[in-house]
Amino acid sequence: MSVENEFNTKNGARHDRLLGMDQPISRRDFLNSTLLAAGGALASGATPLRLLAEEDWTGYGGIGDYRKSNGNTYDIVETGHRIRNGDFESLPPNVIDTGEIYDCAIVGGGISGLAGALFFIRLAGNGRKCLVIDNHPIFGGEAKRNEFIVDGHRLIAHQASAVFFAQYPHSFLARFYDSIGLKSPKLEYQQWGSRERALPLSHTPYDMVGSQPAAYGYYFGAKFGQTPGLWLLDPWGKKLRGAPITDAARSELLKWRAGTQQPQERPKYEGDEISRRLDSITLEDHMIERYGISRETIRTFLSPVEGGGSGLGPDVLSAYADYAADLLHPLESDDTDQMFPGGNTEIARLMVKSLIADSISGPHTVEGVCRGKVNFQALDRAESPVRIRLNSTAVWVQHEAEPQKSEFVDVLYTRGNQVCRMKARSVVMAGGCWTTKHIVRDLPQTHKDAYAQFYRSPCMMVNVALRNWRFLYKMGINGFRWFEGLGNYPEVRKTALIGADSPTLGPDSPVVLNLKVLYSYPGMQIADQGYRGRGELLSTSFTDYERQVRQHFTDMFVGSGFDAKRDIAGIILNRWGHAYLNPQPGFFFGKEGKAAPREVLREAPFGRIAFANTDLAGIMDHRCSILEAERAVGQLLNQVLST
Ligand SMILES: Cc1cc2nc3c(=O)[nH]c(=O)nc-3n(C[C@H](O)[C@H](O)[C@H](O)COP(=O)(O)OP(=O)(O)OC[C@H]3O[C@@H](n4cnc5c(N)ncnc54)[C@H](O)[C@@H]3O)c2cc1C
Repeated sequence: MSVENEFNTKNGARHDRLLGMDQPISRRDFLNSTLLAAGGALASGATPLRLLAEEDWTGYGGIGDYRKSNGNTYDIVETGHRIRNGDFESLPPNVIDTGEIYDCAIVGGGISGLAGALFFIRLAGNGRKCLVIDNHPIFGGEAKRNEFIVDGHRLIAHQASAVFFAQYPHSFLARFYDSIGLKSPKLEYQQWGSRERALPLSHTPYDMVGSQPAAYGYYFGAKFGQTPGLWLLDPWGKKLRGAPITDAARSELLKWRAGTQQPQERPKYEGDEISRRLDSITLEDHMIERYGISRETIRTFLSPVEGGGSGLGPDVLSAYADYAADLLHPLESDDTDQMFPGGNTEIARLMVKSLIADSISGPHTVEGVCRGKVNFQALDRAESPVRIRLNSTAVWVQHEAEPQKSEFVDVLYTRGNQVCRMKARSVVMAGGCWTTKHIVRDLPQTHKDAYAQFYRSPCMMVNVALRNWRFLYKMGINGFRWFEGLGNYPEVRKTALIGADSPTLGPDSPVVLNLKVLYSYPGMQIADQGYRGRGELLSTSFTDYERQVRQHFTDMFVGSGFDAKRDIAGIILNRWGHAYLNPQPGFFFGKEGKAAPREVLREAPFGRIAFANTDLAGIMDHRCSILEAERAVGQLLNQVLST
């Protein structure tokens, strides 16, 4: 039997072995040690069933500072569901009063919360104290990374937030970057390191999918009647000839491609007439109008990747979502988009190092924070003006008295099985809409109505560590897309030298491919797409996802010499239950004469509480996290702390 046929027999355990499901690193070594731990737990009367369920959900987490924090953890999901189900509507009798009083408490230790702490401590003056509370085992929110050791090489990859953008030198954001130690936003990357013909390599996960050059490939599988699947290399150079699609779809896709390469009418500033018109229709209707293509073509081939970067497809998003981030006006040059080895993780680390000097070992430089180790003990020290408290979920935030007259806000959070209480003179809610709306107990109806118009959808980032990518090189590609099943568009990326294991990269170098799995169901209501996606994301075991990845790569690449068992060195799943804000038409500028929901929350603080997080901008972008934090802290300083 040929290797290809063997893989197609799919007969249980033997098939799993061929796929490499029994290989170490990716899961088994981790599970085995957990099984031993579970045995110990059983002897001591704990509940191993839950423990096992948790481990087959979490899977392998890699090495280094982030090894226990891949995506949302099992505990976070459980506590989140307890909040949603009303478990904290009335408080447990045994709340522990920590006796602490902070000038500012910040809920959420992502880029927005960390930036908020920096703004607060820089602006509020000496002697002020600030606490950041985050539910993950490490700060950063969606700006986190995974690390692998593959055949002795240390590889770093982003868990979600990836790219940052060089700003005009004297802009507010450029000065902010500079203030945290990001002095030169343009980075140096690995060079081609092989005698063989060089392939142009990406330096972000989005270079190839954006341009789709000759070294790009499309894979068509069973959905297109292709078993085994069919590769179309250099799809646009070939004008899609050879793709197993209808003539109508081909001519529409060519029209779309040509249209995207023409100069387009774009909004010039946020809120101009063009942006308001775009916000009144869906992105799908806009694409139909702009490129003259059908809904069916969009849903089959373009959704959700061409979806404004907002998790769901263009059928439910505001057309303005596709243009909004451009209006943050980064520096105009070919290499504006930049990426640290772990994506925007390094921006979070630079901020933490700026807040607490000994929080990360090594010098306060981009390379220093990338290669240094987090000193977890330093994060939450009583004497420090800023404390970062991890593994803590805020479950109750409420003014002590009537909001306009209250001097304090009560903040209660879970830590293990305990609920703790502290007080703050001001609070920034930087955790995101999906928890803020539940935990601010005295939130006025106007704000509740506004938050009810925020929808978020899940995303799973699967990092697949490969021993080499020769199977791609053999095909002459380093980026590829498919249109069915799990994920859709990885590409081989050279790493910024500040964290690279080697200054060069060739087809035999180990790399991490990043599979972004989006859960979109075109045609369904926006909220229902989010619920359904989360259901799928949360209820699928690590083993099932691992098998799908191994099978899919085998289906695609067995013909070019790929062997999942030999070539896959590790898989980490980063499950983000509420990854993306999905702005619907009217989100940005309001509709039917009503204010946009984001404006209700941004306009003024509610008593001593102000709202941040990138989702308030409607744009998933760390620059918005920073800008929203600056506004929120400014509102509290002006209206709360100065009175
Ligand atoms: C897959 C993906 C790719 C992305 N790529 C990019 C990119 O390339 N470039 C870019 O600029 N942006 C990107 N983003 C957007 C990203 O959201 C922002 O860059 C930024 O990281 C968001 O920071 P934040 O602080 O606003 O929110 P978050 O990162 O969500 O931080 C909020 C934190 O608060 C915590 N929290 C929430 N509720 C509570 C509670 N009740 N108690 C305690 N803690 C709580 C959350 O768990 C989280 O840790 C991407 C996002 C995703 C999902």
